[in-house]
Amino acid sequence: MAERIQTAPEAGSDMGNDDAIGGNVSKYIVLPAGYCGLPKKGHLIFDACFESGNLGRVDQVSEFEYDLFIRPDTCNPRFRVWFNFTVENVKESQVRKIVDTFNVVLRVIFNIVNFSKTKSLYRDGMAPMVKSTSRPKWQRLPPKNVYYYRCPDHRKNYVMSFAFCFDREEDTYQFAYCYPYTYTRFQHYLDSLQKRNMDYFFREQLGQSVQQRKLDLLTITSPDNLRKGAEQKVIFITGRVHPGETPSSFVCQGIIDFLISQHPIARVLREHLVFKIAPMLNPDGVYLGNYRCSLMGFDLNRHWLDPSPWAHPTLHGVKQLIVQMYNDPKTSLEFYIDIHAHSTMMNGFMYGNIFEDEERFQRQAIFPKLLCQNAEDFSYSSTSFNRDAVKAGTGRRFLGGLLDHTSYCYTLEVSFYSYIIGGTTAAVPYTEEAYMKLGQNVARTFLDYYRLNSMVEKVTVPMPRLRKENPPPYKYPLLRGPASNYPNGKGNKKSPVNHKDPSNSF
Ligand SMILES: [Zn+2]
Repeated sequence: MAERIQTAPEAGSDMGNDDAIGGNVSKYIVLPAGYCGLPKKGHLIFDACFESGNLGRVDQVSEFEYDLFIRPDTCNPRFRVWFNFTVENVKESQVRKIVDTFNVVLRVIFNIVNFSKTKSLYRDGMAPMVKSTSRPKWQRLPPKNVYYYRCPDHRKNYVMSFAFCFDREEDTYQFAYCYPYTYTRFQHYLDSLQKRNMDYFFREQLGQSVQQRKLDLLTITSPDNLRKGAEQKVIFITGRVHPGETPSSFVCQGIIDFLISQHPIARVLREHLVFKIAPMLNPDGVYLGNYRCSLMGFDLNRHWLDPSPWAHPTLHGVKQLIVQMYNDPKTSLEFYIDIHAHSTMMNGFMYGNIFEDEERFQRQAIFPKLLCQNAEDFSYSSTSFNRDAVKAGTGRRFLGGLLDHTSYCYTLEVSFYSYIIGGTTAAVPYTEEAYMKLGQNVARTFLDYYRLNSMVEKVTVPMPRLRKENPPPYKYPLLRGPASNYPNGKGNKKSPVNHKDPSNSF
């Protein structure tokens, strides 16, 4: 790596030399020190002024090496993880020379120098994403070209360096922390669903963000369940409260796509359950290219206790709706799942709550155990239950305290990087499709759960068996009894399984 000339003053803060970062770079042309003429081919142009873009500053180390600074979240400099930017105007000498398959001349090194986290999946083989004009599908860079280390040149901050070969002069290249999933993409997706006029899919605007973006709420259920006075068993799902956690949106889309499909399991689920889904709780943060916070710098997942209608309007809207459903004796809110992505763990897994009531605690473990059987990428052993003070303002913790003892609240996490299939050690990097597949498996697991709960006992759809090598440790005893055990709505519901049943291994 080339010697750096220290130009930025050492401010001594923990902000990682962000002192000069105000916003995203906009078609920023990097000219060599002392160069006064017009820009030439090879003077790289960096840009992040687009939706979900993030790059705050570029320092040239040499023609072939650049220090890149993530723009901190708006109004909250503590969070610097998500990046998403383009590079163009590469010149021929920066283009790779392939001598043979194993002897590639690498031309440009990018160092991302101001991450706010120290632990990272980059240590475990994660690599940034790239696409280009002529290859528009996102790919991960080869891990062998990625280095993550503590760098003495950057106040001992952790730096992620990657070497990249520009191979087409005319292309614009785009690099990102993970697969982007923008607010606009989300709106187009919902528009396309609306156009299909499905009588079991409803979209409404539950509220709007500080910057007046839509807080969409979807309802997926058979129209019969929406009759006046009908009793409803509700599954509530939210996503993207943390805007940089883009896998959350792919998982959520997987859930939605499955639930609206003609798959027999989806039909049964729609017949018996009401799915309420708010897939994007932080549309401003998503639009702005933040990692963790809203426009005003709030980590919305720490404000469930007392969301403000003006500072946290989307959270306020969702919470109001949930409380209203909770107070409606015709509505039984059975599950709340908030979907996130994890920056240091592999696999999909869940966080749940700890309860004094042992029986409730045990029942809470059922859904993740069932999901583990359906999804090869979901790990029950990584699933954990906690009551850390630091997580008190999260949706899962707050609603776990509010809702009655037969409701289950989870955070569903999925790795930004990869999953490890049981019995192997090889990390399989997630693709967009694999994230969606996890969503699909979450959705179909509700049938397994309610089969145990006897609600849909007469249904004869085939059960999903994706992990043939790992059969379930128990049979599905279809517990006999009335389809609905709780006519009075609250507090009198039967346990979904008979936990004295010896065939039940929980
Ligand atoms: Zn999160």
